[in-house]
Amino acid sequence: MDPRVEQFMAKIKVKNPAEPEFHQAVMEVSESLIPFIEENPRYKFAKILERIAEPERIIIFRVPWMNDKGEVEVNRGFRIEMNSAIGPYKGGLRFHPTVNLGILKFLAFEQVFKNSLTTLPMGGGKGGSDFDPKGKSDNEVMRFCQSFMTELCKHIGPNTDVPAGDIGVGGREIGYMFGQYKRIRNEFTGVLTGKGIEWGGSLIRPEATGYGNVYFAEEMLKTRGESLKGKTAVVSGSGNVAQFTVQKLNQLGAKVLTLSDSAGFVYDPAGIDDEKLAYVMELKNIRRGRISEYAENFGVEYFEGQRPWNIKCDAAFPSATENEVQKEDALALIKNGCKLVSEGANMPSSPGAIEVYLRERILYGPGKAANAGGVAVSGLEMTQNSMRLPWSREEVDTRLHTIMQNIHQTCVKYGTENGGYVNYIKGANIGGFVKVADAMMAQGIV
Ligand code: NDP
Repeated sequence: MDPRVEQFMAKIKVKNPAEPEFHQAVMEVSESLIPFIEENPRYKFAKILERIAEPERIIIFRVPWMNDKGEVEVNRGFRIEMNSAIGPYKGGLRFHPTVNLGILKFLAFEQVFKNSLTTLPMGGGKGGSDFDPKGKSDNEVMRFCQSFMTELCKHIGPNTDVPAGDIGVGGREIGYMFGQYKRIRNEFTGVLTGKGIEWGGSLIRPEATGYGNVYFAEEMLKTRGESLKGKTAVVSGSGNVAQFTVQKLNQLGAKVLTLSDSAGFVYDPAGIDDEKLAYVMELKNIRRGRISEYAENFGVEYFEGQRPWNIKCDAAFPSATENEVQKEDALALIKNGCKLVSEGANMPSSPGAIEVYLRERILYGPGKAANAGGVAVSGLEMTQNSMRLPWSREEVDTRLHTIMQNIHQTCVKYGTENGGYVNYIKGANIGGFVKVADAMMAQGIV
């Protein structure tokens, strides 16, 4: 490891103990940025990297609520307001039992670079709770969301901090939180994105992360004179991001072989076509069932407790959670002929897996670039809310497509190495950094 990175990381680890995901995210970024900062010493003297790795503010709060049995439950709520140099804090809320401070700090840190890459005026933030919506009734989810927002509403606002969804937070949860915010603050504003279409939401927002990831993959393939048509793909997860990744892959003529959830994956060699995808959407979004039911329903194989990276494919779209692709998984993908990995999830590949992708020179789109379509359309939702004017599906989709093409261009600009290989991770880190760093420099030591 570069000794300058090692030195920087030693300080980060002392200051942020027991937060391995945060360390991982900062290390990956500093490996690209420290050499760049050495070449651009103005950032070094202003200690921009040190400042960018320190959240502007962290809010931690108690979330008490009552379950259907009349018992009191207590969860912990968080909001990390990471960086507001280029716009209001913006980033999702995650409800999952694994949520802790370090995970949210890693997500907020990534979000700063991602939001900058979209070119829209959004700072970075992230939040959530260790609440598990799985197995809870609608009423329990509503009571939890109302309690969560009763505290969070003191800290957010359309010009301050605009949360959205993430794992465990979809349209239902955003609705309950928006209702409570409106009730307490007595104002109808664009304080959350991912809203329902009847009450201030944007068309294409549910689709945006998955569609955007596939647009990004298509751009990467174009650099090698190829396209997704006729390619086989493995997708992990079966939530929001995974579902719309499958939909767009089908539209572009690829064949999707797998979907997963935290219990295992299904392998459908005939392909998960639109009809089967409709079944998955009903299963996951309405019945809130398990992906194993897909295997029973369509008579295909289910692999309990496993991830889909051993299945032969041309392209992989990790779309479930962090560190879901380890080094041995990356080696299996490459061995089976996979030429592209494009990340719908945030930091799904471990450092060992990334090392393999870069060594093998495959097309590798890191999450902060490839999955930026979600927050990009959230930014477009904020614009429409400010104008009080909704755009058509086509208009939003066209803008999303253009944004993803521009992010790809930025990665190529900053990430092309001697010999022509595009290191998208380096491109995304430097491309995302420059705008935030320049804004921080202009705003003084704050
Ligand atoms: P959802 O809650 O809709 O779906 C999450 C999916 O991932 C589910 O299938 C879930 O399975 C699976 N999953 C969650 N945790 C784990 C785990 N620890 N191990 C294995 N599988 C797991 O979330 P999203 O689709 O919104 O988010 C997926 C990823 O995409 C996350 O990394 C998120 O940060 C990222 N992302 C999301 C954006 C968005 O717009 N929603 C934007 C950018 C990135 P199960 O149901 O069994 O828990």
